[in-house]
Amino acid sequence: MAEVIVIGAGISGLTAAYLLRASGHDVVVFDQGDVPGGRMRSERIDGFLMEHGANSVVGPAPAVEQLIAGLDLGSERVLRSADARSRYLVRAGRARALPVTPCRFFMSGFFSLAGRLRLLLEPFVEVCHEDETVAAFTRRRLGREMLDYVMDPLAAGLHAGDPRQLSISAVFPRLKRLERSHGSIVLGAIGSRWRRDGRSAAYGPGKRILFSFRQGLGMLPRSLAGHLAGCIFPGHRVESVRRGAGGRFRVLARRGAAAQWIMADSVVVALPAYAAANVLDGLDRHVAETLAEISHPPLAVVFLGYRASAIAHPLDGPGVLMPAIEKRDVLGMLFSSTLFPGRAPPEHVAITAYVGGARQPRLATLEPDELTALVHREVRQLLGGGEAPVVARTRCWRHGLPQPGVDHARRLGRLAAAECEHAGLFLTGNYFSGVSTAACIEQAVGTARRVEHYLAGQSGGARKAA
Ligand SMILES: Cc1cc2nc3c(=O)[nH]c(=O)nc-3n(C[C@H](O)[C@H](O)[C@H](O)COP(=O)(O)OP(=O)(O)OC[C@H]3O[C@@H](n4cnc5c(N)ncnc54)[C@H](O)[C@@H]3O)c2cc1C
Repeated sequence: MAEVIVIGAGISGLTAAYLLRASGHDVVVFDQGDVPGGRMRSERIDGFLMEHGANSVVGPAPAVEQLIAGLDLGSERVLRSADARSRYLVRAGRARALPVTPCRFFMSGFFSLAGRLRLLLEPFVEVCHEDETVAAFTRRRLGREMLDYVMDPLAAGLHAGDPRQLSISAVFPRLKRLERSHGSIVLGAIGSRWRRDGRSAAYGPGKRILFSFRQGLGMLPRSLAGHLAGCIFPGHRVESVRRGAGGRFRVLARRGAAAQWIMADSVVVALPAYAAANVLDGLDRHVAETLAEISHPPLAVVFLGYRASAIAHPLDGPGVLMPAIEKRDVLGMLFSSTLFPGRAPPEHVAITAYVGGARQPRLATLEPDELTALVHREVRQLLGGGEAPVVARTRCWRHGLPQPGVDHARRLGRLAAAECEHAGLFLTGNYFSGVSTAACIEQAVGTARRVEHYLAGQSGGARKAA
């Protein structure tokens, strides 16, 4: 018997469990994996540091900052290196530096004259209040070239997604908000930048930062799991959640051949949507169907370490993005050893490539040596150099990232209704408000608050009844 059972020890479940335990609740966490952290896992290989999933956090985000302060991890934080100054995009088969300031953007020949002039029309495009796909939104407001060479590679780089399927409101909510509030994303962005600069002058830099930790992002779940020692159970796969006597929940957890039912007042399902669907099927078939509708195409991570002299490119940026129209075999590459210190031994560099996703799901399921050869070929063609990598490691996520389509808001509405119907059941994870680590943490903080509120109501009710 536990007060709260948290299913899943990724960053979402660990954050919720840590906060609930810190407020004095009796929490039990089950995870089917041997190591907590889910899609946040760092591994040292011969002096290189590979991130199996998330590699950086975009901040500042208040919930993340509070968590880092609470865990006393501030001194372990590393910021994006100043050497990562250029942003690369493949165009006409070459990795080319993107013009990032508005002035350079209009002067450079990276985009065609017609594409640049099309942008000037954006403020005059009619506002659409409905949700639409990233592709439809971008084509309508910014034109075809911005779709092909900006939003498509971003959708692939951030979501491993296809802009023709992803919802603009779910994936780039700020753009849709700017359209609604200012009638134009160009004018809205200029206005908010101007306001931010005004604020910055008064209150400090207020700039976006990209960070990780000295030993990789895996330090964050490791530290959270350390604070949950004694109440976290790796290697336990939850198979089912049911309602038991007295309205309590019954959770079936299996370790090897041994399975047991554990009772709880409240259950937090902190699983990816496809896994939550399986676990909740016996409790509520409609909830399970809603969750199962969210697709998670496979995604492979290919980590390659080279001698620095083997790569001709200066790797002076965070990485390179690949528009689908360029027909490459990778979604994007990170220059990991440029981005953060300590990712490769001296005189070596580390590159992390992402393969598959909604664009080419089949490629993610290739054998490790095929994936390595495929990415090495791309490195050779785009970044120069012929020498083989000194380290190669692959990781295939059979279910990669959730792909919220234009019906996603309706699905989230159904899930919210189900939480009301099954009082004491809470869902959290990366399919609610974004896949980023910061979004998962903020979502989990909100979930922990709702659980606390529910438990306070329960104990108030019990006191009254007594
Ligand atoms: C390749 C890749 C790169 C990424 N890069 C970034 C990045 O750079 N920055 C960023 O912010 N985000 C990034 N993300 C996204 C981010 O990592 C995830 O959205 C986030 O970590 C999800 O956390 P979670 O706790 O919700 O889910 P998960 O991390 O998936 O955790 C769920 C946990 O549930 C467990 N589980 C599953 N089924 C069961 C069951 N039946 N019983 C018990 N346990 C179960 C799993 O073992 C897992 O530990 C990336 C993701 C991937 C895949």
